Amino acid sequence: MNKVLFLDLKSPYQELQTELDAAYRRVMESGWYILGEEVDSFEKDFSAFCQTKHCMGVANGLDALHLILRAYGIGEGDEVIVPSNTYIATWLAVSYVGARPIPIEPDPATFNIDSARIESAITPRTRAILVVHLYGQTVDMDAVLAIARRHNLKVIEDSAQAHGAAYKQKQAGALGDAAGWSFYPGKNLGAFGDAGAVTTNDDELAERIRTLRNYGSKVKYFNEVKGYNSRLDPLQAAFLRVKLKHLNGWNSRRKEIALQYLSSLSDLPELTLPHVPEWADPAWHVFVIRHAQRDALQKYLGENGIGTLIHYPIPPHLSEAYQDAGYGRGDFPLAENIAQTVLSIPIGPHLASHQTAQVISAIRAFHGK
Ligand SMILES: *Cc1c(COP(=O)(O)O)cnc(C)c1O
Repeated sequence: MNKVLFLDLKSPYQELQTELDAAYRRVMESGWYILGEEVDSFEKDFSAFCQTKHCMGVANGLDALHLILRAYGIGEGDEVIVPSNTYIATWLAVSYVGARPIPIEPDPATFNIDSARIESAITPRTRAILVVHLYGQTVDMDAVLAIARRHNLKVIEDSAQAHGAAYKQKQAGALGDAAGWSFYPGKNLGAFGDAGAVTTNDDELAERIRTLRNYGSKVKYFNEVKGYNSRLDPLQAAFLRVKLKHLNGWNSRRKEIALQYLSSLSDLPELTLPHVPEWADPAWHVFVIRHAQRDALQKYLGENGIGTLIHYPIPPHLSEAYQDAGYGRGDFPLAENIAQTVLSIPIGPHLASHQTAQVISAIRAFHGK
């Protein structure tokens, strides 16, 4: 039996070995290993890609979100609207600055924050709406931005899953006041280690984040604020510059696979396929289906050599880490139901047609088709 990996991290290196090895040698021979030219160049390339004025490379995606909140002066006593259905990093960034994450349930069709539920959760302490373009599909941003404008709130995009995703022809990362990016190896644009970035059109925010990420100093040994060590590694910046040139092509291949899944599985009523609103151009970071017999389906696919994952099995409000928030089962039933029914099936730029065919026939066979 041929195995279909859920995530293939080796093929990108094999495809780009010559360029990546050259990038490695360039950095090693430069004698410069913190910030500098490679990081500057990647920041230019990535802000051009996102169509934003600024990009600041940081250590990882969680830091990117944390630094944005800190730079906006959000902290103790403040509230930040977050999705109830997300990876825990979104909530942790809010907790890091001492603010309180206020969870909002998703639209079950898109898995993304339900903008119709946001306004009733706003209080005098609310400072920002931290949206997540979950699974690579953008949030309905016009609705969120209209609410934010009415209440004078910042809109922050958690773009960790949305490299190359678009909303009404506009790039993720340029849709709100600031965006946090992760280049964790498994993301659509992934480094060979941890890496992250912030994009924004806000000059003042950009300046503050440049300072905060580097010990709170603009000039070496002159520390203006109690900053952090959260700098993008030049080696990772050099690798990311190589991979960025391939992102659009790789995303097109993801889309091809997604369309193939959507058309080949549409006659299975037990299975809910992803819904793509007309304004969305998803990056297809993951392809998430819903199924009442999710666990049985996952087991069956595993027995047939097909790797799957669950994004995510426990919603943040039920995780041990957030016990102190006092939430219980039933508090966010949509997020809980999603956690119990979702299954991510293999998708990626290096997945071959015979492999996607194998995934499709295994899912069909599970349903006796
Ligand atoms: C990956 C991810 C992050 C965190 O990124 P790291 O680089 O691992 O810190 C944050 N939010 C979401 C939605 C993610 O998927």
